Amino acid sequence: MNDRQARLRRLPSVDALLAHSAMRDLARAYGREPVADAIRAQLAAIRREILETGQPGISEESLRKRIEESLRQQHRPTLRPVINATGVIIHTNLGRAPLSVSAREAIFAVACAYNSLEFNLETGARGSRQTHARRLLRDLTGAEDALVVNNNASALILILSALAKGREVIISRGQLVEIGGGFRIPAIMRESGAALVEVGTTNRTRIADYKAALTDDSSMLLRVHTSNFKQIGFVQQPTLEQLTALAHARGLLAVDDLGSGSLIDTALFGLEHEPMIQESVAAGVDLVCFSGDKLLGGPQAGIIVGKAEALAPLKRHPLARAMRVDKLTYAALIATLEHYRRGDALERIPVWRMVACPLDDIKRRAADWAAHVDGAVVSGESTLGGGSLPGAALPTALLAIHSAAPNRTLEQLRAADPPVIARIADGRVLLDPRTVLPEQEAALLAALKAID
Ligand SMILES: *Cc1c(COP(=O)(O)O)cnc(C)c1O
Repeated sequence: MNDRQARLRRLPSVDALLAHSAMRDLARAYGREPVADAIRAQLAAIRREILETGQPGISEESLRKRIEESLRQQHRPTLRPVINATGVIIHTNLGRAPLSVSAREAIFAVACAYNSLEFNLETGARGSRQTHARRLLRDLTGAEDALVVNNNASALILILSALAKGREVIISRGQLVEIGGGFRIPAIMRESGAALVEVGTTNRTRIADYKAALTDDSSMLLRVHTSNFKQIGFVQQPTLEQLTALAHARGLLAVDDLGSGSLIDTALFGLEHEPMIQESVAAGVDLVCFSGDKLLGGPQAGIIVGKAEALAPLKRHPLARAMRVDKLTYAALIATLEHYRRGDALERIPVWRMVACPLDDIKRRAADWAAHVDGAVVSGESTLGGGSLPGAALPTALLAIHSAAPNRTLEQLRAADPPVIARIADGRVLLDPRTVLPEQEAALLAALKAID
C-alpha cells in the first residue's frame, strides 16, 4: 500500500503540468480552464487506477498525451463526415445525398466571397434569389415556373397555407402517409389551416370518390406519392391525368407531392419506375413538389415547379420568406441541375453513380477490401433509401468480416477517422462498396486494417 502512496505522491501537480509548453499550447487552443479541468480529470482517473488496480504509475509524457487526447475527444465536432458502407444510397441519418464535385466547388466559391445572390449584374439593381435556379428547373422539367424552399415538407406547408387555408383539400385514404420523423400528411394539413377530406379506402380510390366529395369549399385535389411503403394486390388509384382533368373542370388545383421525384428513369437500372417530375408536369398538374436531396442528388431543398399562376401566391406568401434557402444551397442546387442539363448526371452525381455502378466494379472493390481483413465477398442487396422505391434492391457484392464480436467490430469501425458505418446481418459485419465514395477508399482500408 505504501508503494501505492508513493506512486500517488510522484504524480505531478496541476500547476506543474500547466506550466509545460505543450500544455500552454493546448491552453491557447482550448482555453486555460478547460485544460486545467482536463488535467484534474486525468489525474483523478490515474489516482483511481493506482489505488484500485495497482497501476504502476505513469510518465509525465504519457499523462500529457492522455490529457491532449481527452481534450481532442471532448471538443471533436459532433457533425462529421462519415463513410457510408451500409449500401443505403440515400441514407437519411447519414445526410442523404453526398454532393458532386462541382456542387462542392460551387459552394466553396460562393462561400468565399460576396456574390450576386440578390443583385442583378446587368442592371446594377436589386435582384431576386429565386431567379438563379428557375431557368434550369423550367428547362429540365418543362414547367412554367419554379420556387425553391428549405425542404419538401416546407414546400407542402407553403402550398397548403397559400392556396388551401380555410378550404377543403381532397386526398385518398391510401395516401395519408407518415414520411418519417413524425411528419404526417394529416398533421401538416391541420397546421396549414386546410381541411382534410379523405376519400376512398386504404387500398382503392376511384376518380368517382373524388368527384363525390367536391363541395363549394373544395380548393385542391392532392396526390401524395406513397414513397416509403408499397401496396400490392387489390389496389387502385386514379391517374394524375384523371385527377387533373377533374380538378380543372371544377376550377380547382391539382397538386402532386412526389417526395423524391426523379429526373432520370429508375427503370433503366432494373428498378421499378419511380414517378418522374417531367411526367407530373406533362400530366398538367398545377404544382409538383419534391426534395432536393433525395433522387435529385443535390442539397437539402424543397422544389416546387408548375404553373406560373399557381406559383405566384406562393412567392408572395410571408412563409416563403421564412422558408427561403441560403446562397450555399442555391450554389449546390444549380451545380447539381447543370449535370442533368449537360447529360453527365449518371457519371457525376454520386447518388446516380452509385445506382448505375456495374456489379463487376463493386465485386472487384469488395475483393480488394477482403485482402486487408479476415473476410470474404458475399452477394447481397443495396437499397435506394430516402423514401424512394421501398422494397426495391440493387444486386451488390459485400465484404463480410469474420468477427467473433460483431458489435465490437462495428464499434471499432465507428471509432475510425472518419467513422465507418457498417451493419450486421446473420452475425456478420457487412460493408457495401456501392455507397463508399472512391475518395474515401484509402481511409476505409486503414480502418479495416486497424480492426483487431
Ligand atoms: C420525403 C418526403 C417528404 C419530405 O421531404 P423533405 O425534403 O425531407 O422535407 C414529403 N413528402 C413525401 C411524399 C416524401 O417522400
